[in-house]
Amino acid sequence: MAAEDSALGFEHMGLDGRLLRAVAELGWASPTAIQAQAIPLALEGRDILARARTGSGKTGAYGLPLLQHLLRIKGSSAVAQAVRALVLVPSKELGQQVVRSLRQLAAFCAREVRVADLCAHCGLDAQRPVLMEKPDVVVGTPGRVLAHLNANSLSLRSSLELLVLDEADLLLSFGFGEDIKALLCQLPKIYQALLMSATFNPDVEALNELVLHNPVRLCPAQPRLPGSCQLRQFALRCAQEEDKFLLLCALLKLGLLRGRALLFVGTLPRCYRLKLFLEQFGIAACALNAQLPASSRAHILTQFNLGIYDYIVATDEELPALPSKVPTRKGRKGRKAAAPAAHSRGQDPEFGVARGIDFQDVAAVINFDVPGSVEAYIHRVGRTARADKPGTALTLALPEEYPALARIEEALAGEAGQCPLQPYQLCTQEIESLRYRCRDAMRSVTKQAVKEARLREIKEELLNSEKLKCHFEDNPRDLLLLRHDRPLHPASLQPQLRHLPDYLVPASLRGIARPELRKRRRLPGGGARRRGASCRAQGRTNPLQTFKYAKHRARRPAPPPS
Ligand code: AMP
Repeated sequence: MAAEDSALGFEHMGLDGRLLRAVAELGWASPTAIQAQAIPLALEGRDILARARTGSGKTGAYGLPLLQHLLRIKGSSAVAQAVRALVLVPSKELGQQVVRSLRQLAAFCAREVRVADLCAHCGLDAQRPVLMEKPDVVVGTPGRVLAHLNANSLSLRSSLELLVLDEADLLLSFGFGEDIKALLCQLPKIYQALLMSATFNPDVEALNELVLHNPVRLCPAQPRLPGSCQLRQFALRCAQEEDKFLLLCALLKLGLLRGRALLFVGTLPRCYRLKLFLEQFGIAACALNAQLPASSRAHILTQFNLGIYDYIVATDEELPALPSKVPTRKGRKGRKAAAPAAHSRGQDPEFGVARGIDFQDVAAVINFDVPGSVEAYIHRVGRTARADKPGTALTLALPEEYPALARIEEALAGEAGQCPLQPYQLCTQEIESLRYRCRDAMRSVTKQAVKEARLREIKEELLNSEKLKCHFEDNPRDLLLLRHDRPLHPASLQPQLRHLPDYLVPASLRGIARPELRKRRRLPGGGARRRGASCRAQGRTNPLQTFKYAKHRARRPAPPPS
């Protein structure tokens, strides 16, 4: 992750001592490739168009020069307090993460630099008092920032000095093009602009024309995913649907998968199907998808990062490509027309699990369904092996998904620095003993059960998010106790499936810890917290144990087959 040796270290970039302290506190030993290139140029005042993938350290790449600029202005003479920097993000979740990162970087100059979060899950009125104090930096989605500009609770025309467009390609594909255009009309003529995008497509280029002035173009030569010594990627071609469920059951129930995992599925019903299936085996998992209220999604993420959950079943339903995402002269109606799919499905257009959001300490990403594109694969798999940590990705494919998997394999093989996906070695006979139970569990998770579970969860989460909002504002500690991985109870729950008798455990694995045997610390009120050490420990080893490995570790000789 660190840049080449010839690049400047943080200490040689002319950064304020307070920022260097924060960087050290965060454990950032050296700049990442994008940081090494972008920070010196941004400090010179240049506009920047940077291609930076999520996880590349791009927040630091624009956050450090942004904070340095503010510290310099505020330190020079008595200047009036004003909003001098604006960071536009495509989703509330990403915005909150950016706010967190900026506040961490500004930890030793928090009095001098205040960062306002317009991504908090509250209305315009609740955010007004924060803006009245004229924070130095404002972070928000274009829609929310524009709403404040139009309501005169925010004014940038005479004060803005630095504009950041984070995940610019997503800003456009989420239908914010028109808002950005309207917003640009309310900015001063001269300001520095930094644009970060995972891809450079024609729409991003058009945005570049609109916002940036003679920018430096940065494309750090860096593979889109970490190399094989950090990220191990496997694929398993399954003959039938049942095999996917069987394998996942074996991985989780037999403790073959160590650490926390994101399980990606293709559609929303499958999200609940998988959750209910796991529930049959007593495996708790949160569903995370665009239909849940924004506050629930943010809460699930926060709790996952706190180590409260082990598994999240997530969808990454991509919004359809828009015919014209770049600002045109259509007025605000254009945006409404631009994102109809999300609205018509009752989903939040600002939602995006696979992009940008920083899940922490994800040991493995399981693509339970093959993602629809190479981009989607990269964005899903990019949730593990973040920063310097190792990770594993496993993609399960059915015959009809083989072509999509082959396209992903081919694309990765063609990219410099990328390694081909390895076939996941599995001795299928070893897990055959579980097949009957899996079939039983799959039978219980009927279409009707999925529908009911989906409705129940959404109803409950809406209740949580609306009725309890005020309560949690006053009692933030109580929020920790609210769990999102409670069983949803499909039509028929079969308690016998929860416990795996020893005769069903493959001989080579008997005597090796299973998840239910792992001790969990209970939170007051019933929540369970994973031991912090286990999260850290998973970072050092391959979380996907193979049977070969398990055999090697087994202490007792395997009993003869009965
Ligand atoms: P980002 O791409 O900004 O979302 O950052 C991804 C992760 O990388 C975050 O957890 C950062 O804390 C971490 N990170 C950013 N810069 C560095 C660095 N120079 N060294 C180590 N980790 C970093």
